Amino acid sequence: MARTTTSVCKLCRREGTKLFLKGARCATSKCAVSKRPFAPGVHGPTSRARITDYGKQLREKQKAKRLYGVSETQFANYFDASVKMKGDSGVNLVKLLESRLDNALYRAGFAKSRAAARQIASHSQISINGHKVNIPSYRVKSGDIIAVQDRKTAKQPWKSISEDLKKYVAPSWLNVDADKLSVKVTGEPTGEELKQIFEPKLIIEYYSR
Ligand code: SF4
Repeated sequence: MARTTTSVCKLCRREGTKLFLKGARCATSKCAVSKRPFAPGVHGPTSRARITDYGKQLREKQKAKRLYGVSETQFANYFDASVKMKGDSGVNLVKLLESRLDNALYRAGFAKSRAAARQIASHSQISINGHKVNIPSYRVKSGDIIAVQDRKTAKQPWKSISEDLKKYVAPSWLNVDADKLSVKVTGEPTGEELKQIFEPKLIIEYYSR
């Protein structure tokens, strides 16, 4: 994704919800959404702007795009792919976003935020089915084994992470082996795991205008 020059906390305040972009800090009282629960800007908490249907669709798209840390173009490509797949396009869109390598690492507990997971992936620390992969957007599929490359496991943060991973509850489609620092993808998100802080239906409407 193109590097944002805005404070990431402003993105959460703009969307009116926690996007969990800063890892551990997001769960503390220092979270900017908790401290200043209104959109950034000169109008502050007194803003009374009326939001149109288009505005609602746009905000849902922005929320999802920022949550997963993808560019405008990448996000539009995910939409294109989701409508070409069989089934509900909104569900397909969520599944495609969830299947990104950086998201899988984050969901598996290997990183505190998707941004940190993206860095892990792009810094060539990960292999998939034994082959080095350094593309955060790589689409993982059922049967894939995602692992930290052998020569990296003796170094920090990997040396200490396996104890944390033993206490972490990963979603059902990711089978984490804390000792081997690996994850087997056993399927795709289902049921509650598909629930998001954004409304996929409105995103589909946004692109279908
Ligand atoms: Fe968003 Fe985390 Fe900043 Fe809170 S601390 S505003 S959740 S990035």
